Amino acid sequence: MAKTPAFDISRIRNIGIIAHIDAGKTTTTEHLLFYAQSKHRLGGVDQGTTDTDFDPEEQQRGITIYSACVPLTWNNCTINLIDTPGHVDFTAEVERSLRVLDGAVCVFDAQKGVEAQSETVWRQANKYSVPRMVFVNKMDVVGANFDAVVEQVRERLAGNPIPISMPIGEGSQKDSLEPFRGIIDLIGQKALYFDAGDMGKTVRVEAIPADYLDRVAAHREKLFDLLSQHDEKDLLTTRLLEGSEIPIETIRQAIREQTIARVIQPVLCGSGREHIGIQPLLDAITWYLPTPLDRPPVVGLNPRKDNKEEKRRPDLKEPFCGLVFKLISSDHGEIFYIRIYSGTLKANSRVYNPGRDGKEVVGKLFHVFADPGIREDLPEAYAGDIIATMGLKDAVTGDTLCETQHPIVLEEIVFAEAVVSQSIEPDSTADKQKMLDTLNRLNREDPTFLYKQDGETGQMLMSGMGTLHLEVKVHRMERDYRLKVRVGKPRVSYRETISRDRRIEGECIRMAGTTQLYAKLTVEFKNEFRENVPTSVTMKLKPGILPPPLMAAAERGLRGALTSGTLGFPLLNVHATVIGGHFDEVTSSEVAFEAAANDAVLKALEGNVVLLEPVMKVNVNTPSEFVGNVVADLGTRRGSVDHMDSRGPITDVVASVPLARLFDYADRVRSLSQGRAAATMELKAYEPAPEDVLRGFYNPG
Ligand code: GDP
Ligand code: MG
Repeated sequence: MAKTPAFDISRIRNIGIIAHIDAGKTTTTEHLLFYAQSKHRLGGVDQGTTDTDFDPEEQQRGITIYSACVPLTWNNCTINLIDTPGHVDFTAEVERSLRVLDGAVCVFDAQKGVEAQSETVWRQANKYSVPRMVFVNKMDVVGANFDAVVEQVRERLAGNPIPISMPIGEGSQKDSLEPFRGIIDLIGQKALYFDAGDMGKTVRVEAIPADYLDRVAAHREKLFDLLSQHDEKDLLTTRLLEGSEIPIETIRQAIREQTIARVIQPVLCGSGREHIGIQPLLDAITWYLPTPLDRPPVVGLNPRKDNKEEKRRPDLKEPFCGLVFKLISSDHGEIFYIRIYSGTLKANSRVYNPGRDGKEVVGKLFHVFADPGIREDLPEAYAGDIIATMGLKDAVTGDTLCETQHPIVLEEIVFAEAVVSQSIEPDSTADKQKMLDTLNRLNREDPTFLYKQDGETGQMLMSGMGTLHLEVKVHRMERDYRLKVRVGKPRVSYRETISRDRRIEGECIRMAGTTQLYAKLTVEFKNEFRENVPTSVTMKLKPGILPPPLMAAAERGLRGALTSGTLGFPLLNVHATVIGGHFDEVTSSEVAFEAAANDAVLKALEGNVVLLEPVMKVNVNTPSEFVGNVVADLGTRRGSVDHMDSRGPITDVVASVPLARLFDYADRVRSLSQGRAAATMELKAYEPAPEDVLRGFYNPG
């Protein structure tokens, strides 16, 4: 067997490409693969033959739904490219990938600039402290404007973008005397042209065209100015004052350190479709984005030491720990993607899943290339790397794996809440069990996709982040599992809360068969009136009032009862405090206390329920001439416009609209604007639903 080549953590880059849909993420990714993997043939999104969009669903829609991690080699480094989706219905996927990557490239459309979703994703990247670079793509399209995009990153995203390359020409033949044809490397001070004949593989390096010298000088002055503002190690400042030459390596070191410290974001530009500027992007990824060693140690809790906080460094000598960040069902079984944070994981070994207190046997380990058919087996895998395995028994997305002797639970991935549900039933009743199995598999892959049986009707309900999210799942059932299903109309996932605070005596005094049951509890229920807080339970009893097992039963009972209100929706914002109780030595039991807790919740809700509806933040990006249509239509949907923002011919309309009025919105927006406007939405808040919605639940039909 071939010996594993020496593993060097500092040669790993775990990066993601994040972008607004259609900015060119897939096209750019394809080119990265094309230049960095000799085997790879260049796919094109418009022909539906790309590698990271391996799912036919994605190829049809031209968007990326499932992140895949693809290793590629450049400058002696392994770049693990973690693909992230661009649609808001899939923010869980984006957040999940941000957790495991060390750096990101944000791709912007040179003409559209910073779009609504880029703002969302940029904020998410801030939340996870991800160092990043910017790639301004589509420099060849009509209206491309490099400087404007840089300015938008500064203003709208509060970033500190520093161009390290600039375009030669801008826009297309249609709108520009000097269309985009190459780039200038501002650090190396060279012009780069890419041979269209071999899809950009051949790079011609030339002197900077004379009429660009002034602009290059201005860019460089700005660059040094920005870099010297945070030049703690004095790599540049003294030399700049002396006017002496600064070696390229030193400039790169300064850029690297400030990028990793998240002080700056280096900006490059190019055109994926015209094959321009991608190799410099690969160089910049290896030069400026962090290695796993540059990132802070990962933090987790030790379940065997009262959840004491512990850290793991990306060091082979540390005990193994890793995070299952992605699970994909395939025809051959489930593929688990694991980011290894510390230590070494051997193939065919046993690991511990502390969150489920269970052992798992890890079989083969491998790197997965973009198409999951292509694999490279690994005898062992090391801290800092991202690898895949199959056949884990209990692990699901978000679980930690570690050594039994050194348990640690890494911080959970928190997922947004499902806002839409739809009934689902198999076309043929014989497929009932198959449908349950399939729903279960899809939920294991994607924890934001939920299903449950409706208590009253016995119908199966699936729920998720948006209608597109559910649509994609149904397509997968049909295509991957050959399961024909019928679905109902999409419905809003409401929440319930209480309108008035109450103090309740809950009790359970009755015979169950021949057994007497007895329990009494005094519980205060308060509406927290804060946004979207899950329900919570506090025990505030003087010692000795209830024995610990009965207290635990009361708490369990309350938590259970609070998961569903009188209309069957989860409760929100309700805080329950147990302040008193009474038990009987002979007839009190855990069962009785659970029942008393349930009784307390029923009484607290009686005639006291407020229905909350999800209100979405809707962002419509439209040619300005259609703003009137868009705003008028929003008015008919109980929507209110929060603000509008015009950039030349394009306007962003940001509004708050109840989800209940948005199910047909994507189509409507297109018809209001001759197909030219597009809308995105995400959950903003839960707000009281109008009376008639609540009445509808009590008198259906
Ligand atoms: P994604 O949604 O971010 O993955 O974007 P895609 O890579 O699927 O690209 C969206 C559309 O823009 C496709 O029709 C591409 O052919 C086109 N496109 C991508 N990059 C460029 C570019 O650099 N220039 C031009 N003119 N079109 C591009
Ligand atoms: Mg794509």
